[in-house]
Amino acid sequence: MASALSDRLSKLVKSMRGQARITETNVQDMMREVRMALLEADVALPVVRDFINRVKEKALGQEVVGSLNPGQVLVGIVHKELAATMGEGVADINLAVQPPAVILMAGLQGAGKTTTTAKLAKHLIERRKKKVLTVSADVYRPAAIEQLKTVTKQAGADWFPSRPEDKPRDIALAALDHARRHLFDVLLVDTAGRLAIDEALMAEIRELHAALNPIETLFVVDAMQGQDAVNTAKAFKDALPLTGVVLTKLDGDSRGGAALSVRQITGAPIKFAGVSEKIDGLEVFDADRHAGRVLGMGDIVALVEEVQKGVDIQAAQKLADKVRSGEGFDLNDFLAQLSQMKKMGGLSGLLDKLPSELAAKAGQADMGKAEKDVRRMEGIINSMTPLERRKPDLLKASRKRRIAAGAGVQVQEVNRLLNQFEQMRDMMKKMKGGGLMKMMKRMGG
Ligand code: GDP
Repeated sequence: MASALSDRLSKLVKSMRGQARITETNVQDMMREVRMALLEADVALPVVRDFINRVKEKALGQEVVGSLNPGQVLVGIVHKELAATMGEGVADINLAVQPPAVILMAGLQGAGKTTTTAKLAKHLIERRKKKVLTVSADVYRPAAIEQLKTVTKQAGADWFPSRPEDKPRDIALAALDHARRHLFDVLLVDTAGRLAIDEALMAEIRELHAALNPIETLFVVDAMQGQDAVNTAKAFKDALPLTGVVLTKLDGDSRGGAALSVRQITGAPIKFAGVSEKIDGLEVFDADRHAGRVLGMGDIVALVEEVQKGVDIQAAQKLADKVRSGEGFDLNDFLAQLSQMKKMGGLSGLLDKLPSELAAKAGQADMGKAEKDVRRMEGIINSMTPLERRKPDLLKASRKRRIAAGAGVQVQEVNRLLNQFEQMRDMMKKMKGGGLMKMMKRMGG
């Protein structure tokens, strides 16, 4: 799925070479692809429409500067707008209130409320050094109360018992009183969810909200819900003044388009992302990174810009062809590649910009380390004869000693370089069709 969109966009980007301006015509084709990508990522149709219109407005008539072409500029605008729509900057939990700060958790059953309550407790204890109490107002499912007790213990927080025969409002107020008297900083209130929106449920949570006056009312929503997230979000937004969203199960297959819909519909910032069932599987939501996921193409925008900065596309292309044929990748090519990588802001910087699948593969080759040593590595290769660079197999002990002396390094470093060279050769073979280089070539115009 991911490669499909970047392939399609890349083709379009290429076809726009030589055009100096973004026009109705060239924006049209591009937006068709972006629209498809967003729908595939399960963004709700009205949200997609809005988004496309906004991008068009921003893009039309925009001057295309430097060596970029209109397609590349458009990709940049799409990505930026996507990140902006999902929220910029980091929105942590607001605790600026006379303690205890009350946080009300809202959402459908199965959305991940109870799990998230415990994850948040852990986050507040560890990152914000707070004393945290949890309570369940879900009197309909005794198992839910027990579940909260278990995960609260795992989080290292305190748990306030609730009896199924009591009213949710009374339980919550008793917990608040307890929190006050025992000097808790935060009270997390888990609530009952139903499988679908129903009026009684909404009335109950409204009543809880009125009684507790929480500083945060967090809407917990399952990212896998896709299109349905829209209706749920609407119902909760109408019932409650939401202050934030937690998007759970982002570790699943979904492209996370729900983020866009939910953000647009609730107007509330997405504060956290749930990324595993485990208690530490909570991350502060990163809109920029998520934009890449929704588009299914990593941070290609940044990559495009880096590539434009001065990498020799033609050399990259030649290298890519060589690697693709699977043969003849030698130390000269390795050297050329090192210097190109350097121009692109370093290996690890580049990895960040690749779609995660590709980056994971590349990561196996320990590229962070390679970056640090790049200059020394160049020194070592420069100490080799042309023949040795073409035929690294010739490098036995005596030649290695000579090269090490020439470059002013230990023999181990020469060995390490040869290892890294081999790793890279393997990695490039593994990346189908030349991977990285192919991508640079395509995006480079
Ligand atoms: P609640 O009914 O809203 O309280 O939902 P629960 O907290 O009981 O979660 C429902 C299911 O989703 C449980 O099996 C959780 O382990 C699982 N879950 C919750 N958050 C995440 C998440 O971020 N990732 C994954 N993979 N599973 C999650």
